[in-house]
Amino acid sequence: MFDLSGGHPVLDLVNTLDHRFRDEPPVELLPDYEALLSFARQSGILDPGQVRALRTSVKPQAAARALSSARELREALATVLYGNLEDRPPPAAAVRTLERHFLASEQHRELRWQETGTSDGQPRMTWQWSGAPKEAEFPAWILAGLAGQLMLSDALQRVSACEADPCRWLFLDTSKNHTRRWCNMKICGNRMKARRFQARHAAGR
Ligand SMILES: [Zn+2]
Repeated sequence: MFDLSGGHPVLDLVNTLDHRFRDEPPVELLPDYEALLSFARQSGILDPGQVRALRTSVKPQAAARALSSARELREALATVLYGNLEDRPPPAAAVRTLERHFLASEQHRELRWQETGTSDGQPRMTWQWSGAPKEAEFPAWILAGLAGQLMLSDALQRVSACEADPCRWLFLDTSKNHTRRWCNMKICGNRMKARRFQARHAAGR
C-alpha cells in the first residue's frame, strides 16, 4: 500500500523515492513495473481492468522501459519542485526532460467530439487516450499529463514539503492560509511533536 499523503498523484509519485535527502541511500518504492501499476491503481489513475490488461500483456523489456521512464519523470519533477521551494530556478536539463514527457503524453491523446457521457451531459470536445491504454507507458503518460497541468497552473505555488526531517515529502497545501506543515499529521506531525517533547524532557534533566 502506498501512503498517498501528497494529495495529488504527481506529488505522491515524487514521494515514491522515500528519504531522498537523508545521508543513507533513499528507499525506492517503485522497484518494478508491478509496483508502478499498484501505485497507478491506488492513486486512481488506472482502473482495475486497465491494470489487469497491462499486467498480462506488457512484455518485460517494455515494462522495464516504462518503469525507467516513470522514474525519470519523477526525478525531473523532484528537481524542479524542491528547487522551487528553495527559490532556485530549475536546471535546463530538468525542464527539457519534463518537456519531453509532457509532449509524449499529449501525442498519445486524440481529439474527439463526445456526444454523451460528459460531466454536464452536454456534447463537447475532449482529449481521449485512444490506443494508449494498451501501452506499457500508459501510466507514465497519464502522470506526465497531470504533471503538465500542475506545473503550468497556480497550484504549483501550493506545493509544499513536509517539515519533518528526513521526511520532506511533497504535498498540495489546500489549507486556506497555506499553513499545513506535515505530509501526514498522524505520522510526521506526531513524530515531530514527540521529538520536541523528548528534547524538552532531556533539557529539563
Ligand atoms: Zn512527512
